[in-house]
Amino acid sequence: MYKNDDKYIHNTDNTLICPAQVLFSRHCSPCDIKELLCSSSNIPRNTAILMVDPEGALVSIDPTMPTNTPNSLYKVIPLSLLNISTEKEDMFQNVLSQVAEQFSRAFRINELKTEVTNRLAMLEKRVELEGLKVVEIEKCKNDLKKLRDEMMSRAEGRVNCPCKYNFSDDGKKLTPRCDVPSYPKYTLSQETIEALKKPTFDVCHWEHNEMLSCLEYMYHDLGLVKEFNMNPITLKRWLLGIQENYRINPFHNFRHCFCVSQMMYGMIHLCNLQEKLTLTDLGILMTAAVCHDLDHSGYNNTYQINARTELAVRYNDISPLENHHCTVAFQILSLSIRQAIITLILATDMARHGEILDSFKHKVDNFDFTNEEHVTCLKMVLIKCCDISNEVWPTEVAEPWVDCLLEKYFMQSDKEESEGLPVAPFMDRDKVTKPTAQIGFIKFVLIPMFETVMKLFPQIEEIMVQPLRDSRDHYEELKQIDDAMTEKKKTENISLGGKKK
Ligand SMILES: [Zn+2]
Repeated sequence: MYKNDDKYIHNTDNTLICPAQVLFSRHCSPCDIKELLCSSSNIPRNTAILMVDPEGALVSIDPTMPTNTPNSLYKVIPLSLLNISTEKEDMFQNVLSQVAEQFSRAFRINELKTEVTNRLAMLEKRVELEGLKVVEIEKCKNDLKKLRDEMMSRAEGRVNCPCKYNFSDDGKKLTPRCDVPSYPKYTLSQETIEALKKPTFDVCHWEHNEMLSCLEYMYHDLGLVKEFNMNPITLKRWLLGIQENYRINPFHNFRHCFCVSQMMYGMIHLCNLQEKLTLTDLGILMTAAVCHDLDHSGYNNTYQINARTELAVRYNDISPLENHHCTVAFQILSLSIRQAIITLILATDMARHGEILDSFKHKVDNFDFTNEEHVTCLKMVLIKCCDISNEVWPTEVAEPWVDCLLEKYFMQSDKEESEGLPVAPFMDRDKVTKPTAQIGFIKFVLIPMFETVMKLFPQIEEIMVQPLRDSRDHYEELKQIDDAMTEKKKTENISLGGKKK
C-alpha cells in the first residue's frame, strides 16, 4: 500500500474533530498538497493555510515534509481563523522578528560591501607595490575570485535562509511560507559518501548548500540524530543557523568550519573511534568542530587583547575568541553536553598548544579508553588536529589556504600598524613568506602533534603524517629557491652598484 514514492500525512482539521489521512506523491507541488490538505480538512480550496506539529512548530507544506503518525497529528489552520489573540500575537511576533532579520541582513550586506571595497583597495595597492609581478597578479586574481565566490555563496545562503515568512511570487504580499529552512536536498552519490569518510576528501569544490547537506549526512550517518533524539528538521535549521553565523573573512569562514568538521568525521572513521568512544563523545567532537570558530572576526586574540576590544574585556583577556564562539554556539544550540563542547572549543586556542599536547604525551603510552580524563584529553587533541590539518591535504588543495591565512595575518598587521599596536613578526608583511611561515609550523607544531596521535592510531601515518612530511619537504625546497633568488638579487645589486661607482 505504501509506495516508496508516496507519503501519508495525518492531520486534524481546525475543529479537531476528524483526523484525516492525506496521501500524496513526492512529485506533487506545494500548491497541490495545500489543496489536498484543504479538502481533507473541509476548508474551501485555495484558502491560505498553515500547518503545525503537535509542539506547535510550523511544518513546511511541501513534498519533503516529514511523514507523521496518527499519534502525532498535524493541525491545519486557515489563516482567516488566526483571530484568536495569542495566535495572532505569535504571528505578529514572527512577522516582526522576520522584519528585524531582513534589516540585519541588509546591514550585513553593507558591511560586506565595505569589506570588499577595503580588500579590493588593499589588493590594488599590493599589485602596485609589488611591481606587477606575474605571480602576484595571479594570486590577486585568485583572491578576487575567492571573494566573489564567497559573496555568491553568501547570496545563495540568503535566498535559502530559514525564513518563516517570505514574499511569495504570486501572492504579492507577505504570506507565511514555511518554518522549515530549505536548502536544496542534494542526493549525495555513493562515491561522495565514501570520499567524505576520508581525510583526503577534496573540500574545495563544494557550495555552501552542498556542505550543509554533507554535514547533515554526517550527523545521520554517525547515528547522532537517533542518539540525541534530534528532529531532522531541527538539525537542518540548526546547521543553517551555524552557517549564517560564520562571517565572511579570508580564513575563519564557513568553509573552514566544514573542513574541520569533515576532517573530524574522516578521523572518526580512519581511527575507528565509533568502536572506542561513546556516541555522546562523537556528538561532542562533531558539534565542537562545527561550532569552534563561530562569528570569528578574522583578528586573533592578541589583537583583541591589545586593542582592548569589547570581546577581550568581556572575557577578561582569557581566550576571548574561543569563549565568544561558545556563546554564539549556545545561542543556537541546546544540548546537555554544553560543558564538554566548551572544553573542546577552548582547546583550539593555540596559546594552550604546549600545555594540551604535554598532557596528552603523558597519557598516550598507557592510554585508557575507560578513563574519562584520558578520553577528554584525546578529544581536545583531536579537535586541535582537525583545526590545523590543512597541510594534510595534497599541496594543490592546501596551498591556497596558506594564502588565505597570510592574507588574514596581513589584514591584522596592517590594522595593528594603523592603530599603533605591536605587530607579531609572523604576521609582518615584510618578514613572512609562504615557505618560512609553513616550515616552522609543520616541523614544530603539526608533525610532533600528529606523531603523538599516531602512537595511539598507527593508521594515520600513511594518510595524515606522511603528507605532512611531504609538505615540509615541499616548502623547504621552495625556501631554497627563494633564498637563491635573494642571493642572486644581492649579487646583482652589488655589481650594479660597483659599476655606478
Ligand atoms: Zn578553526
